[in-house]
Amino acid sequence: MESGIEYFRAGSEREAVLEALAGARELLWENPEKLPWEEAKESLRFGQDDIDEAEARLRRFAPLIERLFPETSESGGIIESPVREIPRMAEALGLTYGSGSAASETRTGGRLLLKMDSHLPIAGSVKARGGIYEVLRHTEDLAVEAGLLKGDGSDSPEAYAALADRRDFFSAYSVQVGSTGNLGLSIGIMSAAIGYRAVVHMSSDAKEWKKRLLRSRGAEVVEYDGDYAAAVAEGRRLSDADPMSYFVDDESSESLYLGYATAGRRLKAQLDVLGVAVDEAHPLRVFIPCGVGGAPGGICFGIKEQFGDLAQVWFAEPVQAPCMTLGLASGRLNGICVQDIGLSGATEADGLAVSRCSGLVSREMRHVLDGCCTVDDSRLRPFMRELYGAEGIVIEPSSCAAFRPLEALGAAEEADAAGRAPAGAEDSAGSSAPAYTDIVWATGGSFMPDETVRELLGLTE
Ligand SMILES: *Cc1c(COP(=O)(O)O)cnc(C)c1O
Repeated sequence: MESGIEYFRAGSEREAVLEALAGARELLWENPEKLPWEEAKESLRFGQDDIDEAEARLRRFAPLIERLFPETSESGGIIESPVREIPRMAEALGLTYGSGSAASETRTGGRLLLKMDSHLPIAGSVKARGGIYEVLRHTEDLAVEAGLLKGDGSDSPEAYAALADRRDFFSAYSVQVGSTGNLGLSIGIMSAAIGYRAVVHMSSDAKEWKKRLLRSRGAEVVEYDGDYAAAVAEGRRLSDADPMSYFVDDESSESLYLGYATAGRRLKAQLDVLGVAVDEAHPLRVFIPCGVGGAPGGICFGIKEQFGDLAQVWFAEPVQAPCMTLGLASGRLNGICVQDIGLSGATEADGLAVSRCSGLVSREMRHVLDGCCTVDDSRLRPFMRELYGAEGIVIEPSSCAAFRPLEALGAAEEADAAGRAPAGAEDSAGSSAPAYTDIVWATGGSFMPDETVRELLGLTE
């Protein structure tokens, strides 16, 4: 398998890493500041009790979600996505799981799974976790303040469901957000469904179909000529000037982060159902595309709370917008942006086109994250086509970045194994290599219009 990626192990020179980043070269970077989970935990601002609180709030709101979005009735108003094994994609990538030739019969562990947040209801992307959670938290605050809910834990499921009949009340309030796309969809769709005046500030490069969809759901879309940062700044200014308006701040939102973090325990339950054991011999590796960091960071935190050191988490970023890799590798976190090292921040992976990482998330990830991988834009469509061809699953280009660290680590292991021992000698030596269960986190795509999908897959003409 072709690799073509530079591997910076934990002992690498910081200067060399920064040089590769500035050169927009693909790299796999091991986080030298990572600590054992029990130690790292001590440095964190949030803990399992914060995740529990978020999970409880999502359960309280499930009756309302079910009423507003009947497509969630099967799960009783809980917004969750499937995990699917994708063995044919593993094959297409040249990755082998399990042992022996009759792998499907004899393997003792090791599988490639796709976590399909690309198919989450309501928003069609990972943003359905954090974005919707933040809107619900704000809604609960307002409802308690106004006496629509007691908020002391004694409210009935019916009381939450009845909030669907209070559009008159919520319409006096605004919810605003600046977004290149998916966060806007999630916040806009949810806020408009509850009855808020929903305003989404978008940069001009945001996809036309996302603007159309938002407007069809009753959200206002304001377009800006400048880039994403300009849209966010103006959205924040307008919202701050209005006491009846709430602004969702992608860069430093606690709610977003904790909403995402609830994914960890739910993933564990899904793995249990699939019969996937996670232990020393079968550790987990999870690959997640990273933009500002909220989604992958929150999910990483939730996963580490569940599995501790038995789970590795790797982020994937575009070579022109590696804001989290840059922040962590330089040690400057959100005190540096990709333009500072001469990169453009421009990428086809619109969900990941972020120049400066979240301060909150980069601080939390500093001693927790296993590493990052940067991905050239030219990799995205081939992964997308391969996944579609092998498994019939469509995810958006941004999501596909997560296949790159998987492929690169697979190649590095093969190279290691080849250098360590002759073929076949491994088993007698006690089979030292663990059998990883790899999870690629598909973060978006199911809301793409057919015509966009066909074009991306190269199916037009
Ligand atoms: C938003 C998004 C991400 C990354 O989330 P951040 O919170 O910005 O890091 C990844 N993939 C897709 C498809 C997204 O929309």
